[in-house]
Amino acid sequence: MSNASENGRSSARLSTTGPRTDLLSSNPTDRVEAASIFQGDVDTENTVVVCGAGGFIGGHLVADLLRQGFDEVRAVDIKPPSQWFQKFPQADNRSLDLREKENCYRALENADQVYNLAADMGGMGFIENNKALCMLSVTINTHLLMAARDNDIDRYFYSSSACVYNQELQDTADVKPLSEEDAYPALAEDGYGWEKLFSERMCRHFREDFDVTTRVARYHNVYGPFGTYDGGREKAPAALTRKAIAAKLSDSEDIVIWGDGTQTRSFMYIDDCVKGTQKIMHSDIIEPINLGSDELVTINELVDVIEAAVGVDLDREYDLTKPQGVDGRNSDNTKILNELGWEPPTALRDGMEVTAEWIEQQMRTHREAETTSRFAVPH
Ligand code: NAD
Repeated sequence: MSNASENGRSSARLSTTGPRTDLLSSNPTDRVEAASIFQGDVDTENTVVVCGAGGFIGGHLVADLLRQGFDEVRAVDIKPPSQWFQKFPQADNRSLDLREKENCYRALENADQVYNLAADMGGMGFIENNKALCMLSVTINTHLLMAARDNDIDRYFYSSSACVYNQELQDTADVKPLSEEDAYPALAEDGYGWEKLFSERMCRHFREDFDVTTRVARYHNVYGPFGTYDGGREKAPAALTRKAIAAKLSDSEDIVIWGDGTQTRSFMYIDDCVKGTQKIMHSDIIEPINLGSDELVTINELVDVIEAAVGVDLDREYDLTKPQGVDGRNSDNTKILNELGWEPPTALRDGMEVTAEWIEQQMRTHREAETTSRFAVPH
């Protein structure tokens, strides 16, 4: 793994305790009865809406809001609840297409806070081949902001992405960590990144012109249990873990890696994302802010971590015809450290260990039952 001084990060800041395993129970009620990840001063009488609640981050956020004891957590997603990654009977679960304006107004009726995590998205394989679909998510945020304004919502959170950053600053593996001002002059990731940048801007102008209290985080790659790992929308950590486990289960020794393995990235464990999202929501930070790990690794180093977690040693084949994204991307955490005195602490090795264990459990279960997992989301 790249050493700390090279990446400007002190390894002392990485957590040595590892992720909490009590949040990984297969029983949703046990997951909700655990202590919450976010420990802020909240008014539990507020009604909180999570848009995109059937997805990876949304499902984890709903769980954490329920843990805090909110009376009403409204969970909304376009998918039917049977296909949600996590579903909690304690929440008000609704299946609505939030591209439609009237559905946004219904979703936000009498609500106090809104987290917009709904988007048509996936890993590089999806976003490079579905630019129009990615851009159409702009209708979700636009209509939600209008509904937030007209329903006097107290606080509105938008989940942006590191894909908003100027691509010319990411053309080397030895990348300088991206700080918030690097989004302009704009040259975002085509399709998905432009939609995120425009929607961030829309949040800003609804705040300035209509007094909607908006908060925006730029997530850098998020990974962890209860996320997609198959079907075409999965991201690199889950995709490579699935391939390593498939090799182990079939006694194969090969793994195919997209690109030449030298691209660099940082990866944030889901619990850090859930905590950081709520910290930012309840903060006074009005400008978009990075929420990501700054533990920079090459894709080859990520595969090393995955091999150790899965317990395999594979022959690597590199497929240069597949989408691989920018050459390097890392999060500059100066601002979040200054503002919150906190940054995502989970070490990649620790987070990947529990993630790989969870994916392996899923794959074994579905292999034996010859069923398809609901985490295998098609293109
Ligand atoms: P996800 O795909 O697992 O969840 C998104 C959810 O939005 C899905 O369940 C999907 O069904 C729902 N959705 C899509 N269109 C909808 C519609 N029209 N109406 C209602 N629901 C709709 O993705 P995620 O990883 O949980 O990401 C959540 C948010 O964070 C997204 O906005 C994403 O762009 C952003 N983000 C994620 C990452 C990451 O690494 N996961 C990185 C940067 C930004």
